[in-house]
Amino acid sequence: MALEEYKRKRRFEETPEPPPKVEKKNSHRFVVQKHDATRLHYDFRLEMEGVLKSWAVPKGPSLDPADKRLAMQVEDHPVSYFDFEGTIPEGNYGAGTVIVWDVGTWEPLSPVPVNGEYVPGTDAEASAMLKKGDFKIRLHGKKLNGDFALIHMKGRRPGSKGTEWLLIKKHDDSVVERYNIDEYDKSALSGKTLGQIAGDEGANEWKSSRPASRGKVKAPWLAETLAKLDKKKKTQSSTKEPESKPEKTRAVKKKKSSHK
Ligand code: MN
Repeated sequence: MALEEYKRKRRFEETPEPPPKVEKKNSHRFVVQKHDATRLHYDFRLEMEGVLKSWAVPKGPSLDPADKRLAMQVEDHPVSYFDFEGTIPEGNYGAGTVIVWDVGTWEPLSPVPVNGEYVPGTDAEASAMLKKGDFKIRLHGKKLNGDFALIHMKGRRPGSKGTEWLLIKKHDDSVVERYNIDEYDKSALSGKTLGQIAGDEGANEWKSSRPASRGKVKAPWLAETLAKLDKKKKTQSSTKEPESKPEKTRAVKKKKSSHK
């Protein structure tokens, strides 16, 4: 199951992070979380295949095509991780404070240019590009916009787990040369910095009582973007053949809790 590793690494009675649940439906959201863990890094996540495909980017994404940012692929995360902002308590996996650094929607691009330009692709193409390790996407965020490529590094160093990718901005109107990520340090949801969230008493309280509203879209501008995207998708799908067959539903056996 897609979230086994996510589940294995966490104790859900201690962490405020959401439980492992694979969604049946996808919208195309992305989130970048800034995570003050053992080492500060940015987690780049794309909603696809019912989960958030995730990469840890030590230096964070850049809008300068000259920056090729190392992106380590990590375990899939549940879609409800999308708006997670708060503190993972000490002693837990990934302990430290998390803010939602950027949020928005993404589109897969065509694997090859059409008349010299990359055009929106299909979900099936997205899955194939991810598998192949040459994944082209277009982002519509508050901070990140335009076309990006995620490239799997095939030349493995000895001892490497094969999880190294590069996140690279493509040349387009959204390019910002000499992009300095530290100039943009506030949460896209709350407007707070990591330090403010870490010292936030409200956030501490929130750790123990997870609000039921989790998973809802908090930012009104994003809700609008999503509604537009859905509408566009419906119009597309009414004129196109379905892109993929429905997945086989697999019965999920209830496991006894694995307390050690
Ligand atoms: Mn992280």
